[in-house]
Amino acid sequence: MRLSLESGPNHIGLFGGSFDPPHWGHIRAAQGAADELKLNQLAFLPAVRPPHKRDRKLTSFDLRAKLMELCLPLDRRFRLCTVEMDERLSGTTLDTVSKLRDMGFTEDRCHLIWLMGSDSLLDLENWHRPDDLLAAVEVAILPRPGYRIEDALKKYLDKVNVLHTPLIDISAQNIRAHRLALEHSVPPLVAQFIHENGLYSP
Ligand code: ATP
Repeated sequence: MRLSLESGPNHIGLFGGSFDPPHWGHIRAAQGAADELKLNQLAFLPAVRPPHKRDRKLTSFDLRAKLMELCLPLDRRFRLCTVEMDERLSGTTLDTVSKLRDMGFTEDRCHLIWLMGSDSLLDLENWHRPDDLLAAVEVAILPRPGYRIEDALKKYLDKVNVLHTPLIDISAQNIRAHRLALEHSVPPLVAQFIHENGLYSP
């Protein structure tokens, strides 16, 4: 199901990432955020070419979007949003949020909350115009093992909402490197698709 403007109270979480592949860390943190923030919809936004991951070859956008689609039945609030690809956006979060506003996702019709893991918070100064991003949208942080919230710059920490979502020590990088642990790291349909299509083979 795609992200859309629904009638009634509309609190929407936006969770961007490379999702190569999507794993239980993403899913459980997203569900925790949806509970804590009382979100009606939580949209996963696969990035076309994440600016901070230019040094590594990504699985194609279509395959990553397909893997994400296989996760949607796990929670009724989950949605897919492929705006970055559909609209040929630059890939910066600020650009994506601005586009969604132009498409009608304005604050008078819905409340947008951008979700990011604590690793992203620690790296925020390297993002495109982070201060403008924090002014454009509420940002909520999903704590992640190994990335201490206290280490973030205070000027950012003061402007974000740190959530109490479960700490799950899974990363996509680890999954790609140790494909054997796949069954414990990703939902069954995702594991099946990865096996059937020979993704992440050594
Ligand atoms: P990679 O290992 O390839 O860098 P990743 O596992 O960090 O990937 P991404 O797709 O880069 O996953 O992450 C998308 C978003 O999800 C980012 O905001 C990231 O901080 C967050 N995230 C990823 N894994 C977790 C986790 N285990 N717990 C909480 N947030 C997470």
